[in-house]
This record gives sequence, C-alpha cells and structure tokens, in this order.
Amino acid sequence: MVTVFRIGHRKNRDKRITSHLALVARALGAKGITIAGETDENIIRSVSKVVSEWGGSFSIVFIPYDEWIDFVEEWKQKHGLIIHLTMYGENITKFQLDQRFNSIQNSDERLDHLMIIVGGKKVPAKVFHYADWNIAITNQPHSEVGSLAIFLEKLIPNSLELNFLNSKKKIKPSIEGKKNYT
Ligand code: SAM
Repeated sequence: MVTVFRIGHRKNRDKRITSHLALVARALGAKGITIAGETDENIIRSVSKVVSEWGGSFSIVFIPYDEWIDFVEEWKQKHGLIIHLTMYGENITKFQLDQRFNSIQNSDERLDHLMIIVGGKKVPAKVFHYADWNIAITNQPHSEVGSLAIFLEKLIPNSLELNFLNSKKKIKPSIEGKKNYT
C-alpha cells in the first residue's frame, strides 16, 4: 500500500484540506500520510477517530516543515519510488499507458515502496527533481484533494470498493437513500 506525503501545512488555513487529504488517502487505499508542516493534534484526533470507527489501519504523522527534504532523501535511499502530483507533469492518461505504471499497479511490493507527494501553497522546486515521475491530473490548476483522489483511483486496484477490517461502522449501500449501518 502506498504512502502519501503532503508538503506544507498551516494550522489555521489548511486544516480542512489536510484532513480531507488524509481521509481520501485512507478511503482509497493508502497506508498512511506524512505531513510536513505545523503539527495539528485536532487533525490527528479526527482522522484516528475515523480509523477506529470505520476500520483498517492508517497512520498519520506530522514532521516539521524543514525536515521534508530529509524525509524524501531517506525514502529514496531505501529504494523507494516517488510520484509527485503536479499540474506541470505528464498527463495521467499518458502515464497510464506506460509499462512502469502497470508494473507498480500489479505488485504489492512496488506499491509498498511508492510515495505520492502532493503540495500545498508553494511546492519547493527540488521536489520536481526528487520525483521519479511528475504526473498531472489534467494540466489545469485545481486541488491536491482532487488530484490525489483521481490518482489513487487509477493506481490502486479495486480502490472504490475496498473492505476495511475491524470496522465498528459499515454502510449498507442503498440507491434509495440512507440506510442503517451494518
Ligand atoms: N501553483 C502551485 C504549485 O506550485 O504547483 C499549485 C498549488 S495547488 C493549490 C496544491 C497542490 O495540488 C499541488 O502541489 C499539487 O500536488 C496539486 N495539484 C493541483 N493541480 C493539480 C493537477 N492539475 N494535477 C496534479 N496535481 C495537482
């Protein structure tokens, strides 16, 4: 399962977007998120609550912003791969045809070694160089939450129908409306 790395978090301005990133990462099959920025206990608490109620395992960790580069370098030293989501990258529709994309998709081990980087307000230029692949979800500006969701949906097999173990809450899907949890 992949790891998500969010570079940049300002406690007041980014709280919703960063917690949405974590929730999207979890729901679509990432194993955890690391966030470089101001530590935010409220986000850790609310995401941990979702995990304990809705199941599965998912880690959320904050590191100081300045440590982003050490984190990325350490990842690379352990032979990890990096995909950086950016509107400047190669369009996902092209990358999907690349044999390297398929080889990651089809290997749990390679997925384990993959880190997906999303930025915040300003992305340090070095990120583009550390990345093995810079990938765009459309070449238009939009949102880290939107790009992460679409990328995970394309990368992780069955990402829209994952089963979360040990859940206290589970939805009984219904086309007619809201039904009780099972
Ligand atoms: N101008 C900023 C930059 O330096 O890239 C964009 C900031 S944007 C609000 C925050 C993040 O959303 C980006 O770092 C990127 O990860 C993601 N993002 C936005 N548009 C994207 C796109 N079209 N494709 C992939 N990722 C995108």
